[in-house]
Amino acid sequence: MARYKDEQCRICRREGQKLFLKGSRCYSDKCSVTRRNYAPGQHGQKRTKLSEYGTQLREKQKTRSFYGVGEKQFRKYYEMASMKKGITGTVLLQILESRLDNVVYRLGFGVSRPQARQLVTHGNFEVNGVKTDIASYLVKPGDVITIRENRKDNGVIKANMEAGSARPVPEWLDFDNKKLTAKVVRLVNREEIDLPVEEHLIIELYSK
Ligand code: SF4
Repeated sequence: MARYKDEQCRICRREGQKLFLKGSRCYSDKCSVTRRNYAPGQHGQKRTKLSEYGTQLREKQKTRSFYGVGEKQFRKYYEMASMKKGITGTVLLQILESRLDNVVYRLGFGVSRPQARQLVTHGNFEVNGVKTDIASYLVKPGDVITIRENRKDNGVIKANMEAGSARPVPEWLDFDNKKLTAKVVRLVNREEIDLPVEEHLIIELYSK
């Protein structure tokens, strides 16, 4: 997925929603969606009515952007979800929530998913005692996520922990904030996923 470095806000403006890609700025009045709530570009202020396909496509793109997942991988997740028992849309979101970068974000180690992703790829974490630097690693119930011993002084993580997260750690993760260790208790429930996503639109899009 082509990633904007300094222009994540354009992605939010394209979707017309805060996707919380920049940490504290997202909660301030500097947020671009707060200041300019229209799509970027020359014709951004024109209102266009989306077709059914367009609505489904935007929902999928928005969800990809929330989790920072490329198209190919996102489709792979859809295929995985459609082969599992349960409601495909819910299973898809459970898979996305199980990504290690998302879990690190949910635990408050990173202020945004992009930052959490970077913390993972820089090798700061281990899962079940094994160094894991793959952001897309999917955790499962019973897994234990810890900061590696020699990374406990990481300045970014320390600052984020000291600042405390405005987001409570969800109940499907059992977090010990003294030992900086978390256990995955169970899969996330749909009601616990606080993102404004209508996953049935994504399933409709891929089912065509
Ligand atoms: Fe930028 Fe964050 Fe606002 Fe999105 S939510 S526009 S990333 S400041």
